[in-house]
Amino acid sequence: MHKIIIVGGGLAGSLSAIYLAQRGHEVHVIEKRADPLLAQSANADPVGSRAIGVSMTVRGIKAVLGAGIGKQELDQCGEPIVGMAFSVGGQRRVRELTPLEGLFPLSLDRSAFQRLLNKYAAMHQVNYYFEHKCIDVDLEGKAVLIQGPDGAMRHLQGDLIIGADGAHSAVRRAMQSGLRRFEFRQSFFRHGYKTLVLPNAAELGFRKDLLYFFGMDSKGLFAGRAATIPNGSISFAICLPYTGTPSLGSQNREAMADFFSRYFGSLPPASRQELLEQFMALPSNDLINVRSSTFHYKDKVLLIGDAAHATAPFLGQGMNMALEDVHVFMSLLKKHGEALEPALADFTRQRKVQADAMQDMAIANYEALSNPNLIFFLQTRYTRYMHKKFPRVYPPDMAEKLYFTSVPYDELQQIQKKQNVWYKLGRVN
Ligand SMILES: Cc1cc2nc3c(=O)[nH]c(=O)nc-3n(C[C@H](O)[C@H](O)[C@H](O)COP(=O)(O)OP(=O)(O)OC[C@H]3O[C@@H](n4cnc5c(N)ncnc54)[C@H](O)[C@@H]3O)c2cc1C
Repeated sequence: MHKIIIVGGGLAGSLSAIYLAQRGHEVHVIEKRADPLLAQSANADPVGSRAIGVSMTVRGIKAVLGAGIGKQELDQCGEPIVGMAFSVGGQRRVRELTPLEGLFPLSLDRSAFQRLLNKYAAMHQVNYYFEHKCIDVDLEGKAVLIQGPDGAMRHLQGDLIIGADGAHSAVRRAMQSGLRRFEFRQSFFRHGYKTLVLPNAAELGFRKDLLYFFGMDSKGLFAGRAATIPNGSISFAICLPYTGTPSLGSQNREAMADFFSRYFGSLPPASRQELLEQFMALPSNDLINVRSSTFHYKDKVLLIGDAAHATAPFLGQGMNMALEDVHVFMSLLKKHGEALEPALADFTRQRKVQADAMQDMAIANYEALSNPNLIFFLQTRYTRYMHKKFPRVYPPDMAEKLYFTSVPYDELQQIQKKQNVWYKLGRVN
């Protein structure tokens, strides 16, 4: 059995820890934030920079259940999603979705899900080093240098280092500087975001079982997504450009008040005012796309989740792919009798293709949303109509497959491409 050091005890890191500990490995997790299971740490981990409500699709759910986490307990962290509501010109259009594999996606309270993972990790005797930051990684020596809350430094050495430390990964940084021919590409989107929260979703007429999309009529200026979460609140990711009016950097209260009146016009004035106050007070966050040419180094280091392939949330798949990474790695370890070298090499071979496809689709979706036109809506209707009429030759709706199945991303990308081709043909005819 191996001694495994996981850098980053977020979603992917904690799920990996549960799987690995269950299989008898000695697992150590380095996490710079405070322990989410301690009551006093609830506020020590500011969530303003992250999505508070995230959607977990079927591939994410399968990865979680595979670690022996109870379905009922997972359901308690979220609400099943049965459709999407698009807000256009003050009107809401609802699109119901039909489950394909008998599982509904979940609109999840991210913190509740994190606590659930930490609870299971504790049950399996995972060793967490909370409030410890990974400062450096010795790739050859399979060791990390960590710093505790008192500033003291120490080394930890293992048989494998897993980098699950998110988009700005320290483990990946060590690979960038230490590996020959390691290619790395980081790009930022034209939009950044702020996460705003209203505490009383139901009173405001939001359904818990729908995902809401705003700003579809904003000519690409703004793309907002909202998810209701079980405590009855609703969180909005407001994506805007960095400069100009309206923008993330705007100090013009009047112009921003106009913005909220225009795109959140169905909310009462007090709620719009609350959104405005939060918007003016919060700092903005960047949306980043990160590509790495490999996700492993020999039998020594592995990158998973955002550390390997962060992207913008315009497909809602970052967490889902991160959880699926874990599931896939565990099946590869099993296949290779826990031998690290072939399992890690297979991981890069299988997941690089999928990560590239997922990122390409997310970017394509971003381009569609940031240059929207009516065709975007007509296309969805057209696709569903054509698939119903000609199921053998016309591919099904990609969005449904994305939400309700774990069909590989590269296959979904083919559907997306075909749909575009079919769509263009359909228009010509
Ligand atoms: C606005 C927005 C909305 C989103 N919505 C969705 C959605 O609906 N569905 C979806 O699937 N995805 C969504 N995502 C993406 C999702 O949040 C990420 O893909 C997911 O969190 C990745 O999980 P992870 O465990 O790989 O990384 P993270 O969640 O980033 O976890 C990394 C962990 O490592 C720790 N860490 C970092 N550096 C160090 C260090 N040096 N030392 C020690 N610890 C460290 C961090 O504290 C953190 O706990 C969204 C993202 C954004 C920004």
